[in-house]
Amino acid sequence: MAIEVDRNLCEANGLCVAAVPEVFELDSDEELVIHEAAVDTVSAERIKVAVASCPRYALRVTG
Ligand code: SF4
Repeated sequence: MAIEVDRNLCEANGLCVAAVPEVFELDSDEELVIHEAAVDTVSAERIKVAVASCPRYALRVTG
């Protein structure tokens, strides 16, 4: 499983970070970082919750 973020839509509000901090992080420039290596270490259900938490529909699960 892989996750993509549409940076034109992301407003860095941190909701996905709050949902799954192992995978999502905001860097010091408020850019979303996705830790791809951690994606498979958390449940698919939690990833789904994080993706659904985005009010900007900026996250997409691929693969
Ligand atoms: S929840 Fe959506 S808008 Fe908020 S930081 Fe995550 S990807 Fe960006």
